[in-house]
Amino acid sequence: MLSAGVAFYWHYVGNLLERDVTANIMSAGNEAADSFSRAVAADQRVIDTIAITVQTNYPWTNTEKLERFLHLQVKYNEFENLGIIPLRGKSLQARVTAESESWLREIMMRAMAEDTYVSSRQVSASSGANVLVQAASLHDGMEPIGALFAVVPTDRYKNLLTLSSLGSNGAAFVISRDGQVEVAGRPLSSDNMFDVFGRAQFPKEKPFETVREQIQSGQSTFVRYYLDGQQRFLYGVALPVNNWYLLAVLPTHFIQAQAQRLTWVSLSLVTVILILFGLLMFYMFRLRAYSNQQLFNTAFVDSLTGVDNLNRMSVLFSKRLRELNGAAALVIFDILKFKVINDMLGYERGNQVLQRAADVLHAHLEKGEYMCRSTADNFVLVLSLTDRRTLRTRLTKLVATIRRECTAMDSCIMVDGVFGVYELLEHVPFFIALDRARLALEHAKHLSTGNIQFYDEKDRRRILLEQQLENSMEQALSSGAFTLMLQPKFDFNTREMKGAEALVRWNQGERGLVRPDDFIPLFERNGFILKLDMFILEQVAKVLNKWRQAGKEQVPIAVNFSRLHLNDSRYIPQMSRTVDAYEVPHHLIEVELTESVILNNRELAQNVIRGLHNKGFSVAMDDFGSGYSSLNVLKGLQFDSIKLDKEFLSGSEQNKTAQKVVQGAVDMIKAIGAKIVAEGVETAEQAEFLRQIGCDLAQGYYFSRPLPVAEFEQLLPNVMDLKK
Ligand code: C2E
Ligand code: CA
Ligand code: CA
Repeated sequence: MLSAGVAFYWHYVGNLLERDVTANIMSAGNEAADSFSRAVAADQRVIDTIAITVQTNYPWTNTEKLERFLHLQVKYNEFENLGIIPLRGKSLQARVTAESESWLREIMMRAMAEDTYVSSRQVSASSGANVLVQAASLHDGMEPIGALFAVVPTDRYKNLLTLSSLGSNGAAFVISRDGQVEVAGRPLSSDNMFDVFGRAQFPKEKPFETVREQIQSGQSTFVRYYLDGQQRFLYGVALPVNNWYLLAVLPTHFIQAQAQRLTWVSLSLVTVILILFGLLMFYMFRLRAYSNQQLFNTAFVDSLTGVDNLNRMSVLFSKRLRELNGAAALVIFDILKFKVINDMLGYERGNQVLQRAADVLHAHLEKGEYMCRSTADNFVLVLSLTDRRTLRTRLTKLVATIRRECTAMDSCIMVDGVFGVYELLEHVPFFIALDRARLALEHAKHLSTGNIQFYDEKDRRRILLEQQLENSMEQALSSGAFTLMLQPKFDFNTREMKGAEALVRWNQGERGLVRPDDFIPLFERNGFILKLDMFILEQVAKVLNKWRQAGKEQVPIAVNFSRLHLNDSRYIPQMSRTVDAYEVPHHLIEVELTESVILNNRELAQNVIRGLHNKGFSVAMDDFGSGYSSLNVLKGLQFDSIKLDKEFLSGSEQNKTAQKVVQGAVDMIKAIGAKIVAEGVETAEQAEFLRQIGCDLAQGYYFSRPLPVAEFEQLLPNVMDLKK
């Protein structure tokens, strides 16, 4: 394309120049013709003027004076010679020459016949130079008396024929109609132009004969011909002098050279522009590549650790899986208590821990394996999987390395992590696999059975079930599917019924009554527990109200409240409103808060307990002894009663040491002044032991299972009966 372009351009420039040169050579030729004719005419006028002076001195008596005059005029006008040829007698010349008298006569005859006369080119007898003889006739009145002639060197016209406007390449020639060269702008090999042309090649469409005819008939002509292997332009135009003709000749190589120069200049220009353009394009591509990289980085690279982010993993997941031949596991790694690290050591150090962890994980990867950082302290890995045992060993080692590498020496915060693993045994979309691994991770965090947890099918079933529950819970609440059970509490000594705990059941039709353990944890996660607890409270208030109206004894009822309420400032007012709506005295409502509430936020728990007391509610601590709480926790918290967890009691029947621990705890609680409720009492031995060590109330299957309200009411004595 480039060479075709250059060729075309070359041709185009050549054509353009040729047209230009054609016009130029014509105008240069016309100009030369004009200048030449004017110069000849000017000389003629000078001769005429001299002739007039010569005429007025007729008859020429003082030849000496005349000769001096002629002499002066020759010098002044740079003629070669000037002379008078009288009709009769000897000629008078400014310079003595060898011109023959007969030659002079001839000139005189011509001049007298035509009044003025220009000869064709002659060779001067005295100087040997090419000359033109110009002459004017002389008169005395009407009488012819002779002629005045001037010998003019042709060199004086040569300058007019150099075609200087076309550079020093061309020249013009004045010829007679038969080709004879009269004045040459440049030396020529022949005296006759037609001889020169005879050696030249003319184009077929305009052969030499045509050109010659045009010249002879005085028409202008333009033609290109070859001479000595060189092409030339020829332009011819007739002159007003002597029927002469002017030929302007210009070799075309001049044009070619010019075209070449122009083409080269243009080409270099184009090349420079192309190079600049290329550089620009290169720069732009570089810039684009750079910004693409930036974009890629922001989209796909985690800026803190430099590893890929979750987006990128989701894109590459299927490909990576193929590289591992499908035998792979999706593993989520989570740094335990990372918030604590951040809080205590600062973000800077937290970031360092993350970077270090990323490095360790990355270094651990084998061929085809892959990792990314998903959220703050979560990393996702796609690892090859042979069997669970191997992977478990590998991950155990990995977490040990992270513990060693990431734990800061100067601080006592230990970096530890857990893994949730989903084995990619079937084809599932990335985000589902990720969800399952995350589920296993959550399990691993809560179970405290080790750092690694595999996702199981039963986890999936649980999730499915939870989804079903979540979808139906609102509907269940409004349709009354949640029902109230009451489990009575008895006085150990008198065996009298002293109150009850409200326990919720979910009536799920064909599934029957579902126990709270199956749905309370879910409701605590999705917040629905806030509504459910208030619903149960309202049921309790309703029941108490009913009993009053029915004249039955109102025993205090304990209601379980999730820890979620503690962060809700509307909790206590809302509770009061609900209870008041049924005109139930506040002391009949006991709030059960679990031990973990106090562990998590002691100050908050204290405030809530105080707030409840201010409203006249009593407060019980549920599940004492199930977790880590020591008796210390109870200090400063005004619980009205403490419920001993059933786990706390289990095994104490035979084990004397366990009995001592329980005994100790009971003594301490008594010292604080709280009542003691023993939960989960299942046997007579337990009941006897607990009675002996001084527990106040008993709650458990040994005494009674949780009962539907109607059944529970059977236990209530009538107020009338009591009074009796
Ligand atoms: P909890 O508060 O510790 O309630 C006592 C649980 O022990 C009840 O289980 C009860 O049926 C059971 N239980 C009673 N006596 C015995 C016994 O002798 N042996 C054994 N093995 N168990 C006995 P339930 O009703 O399944 O409730 C489970 C948990 O659900 C409750 O534990 C409580 O934490 C929660 N819960 C129940 N109802 C509500 C509620 O309305 N709101 C809130 N927030 N939580 C509730
Ligand atoms: Ca309870
Ligand atoms: Ca309990």
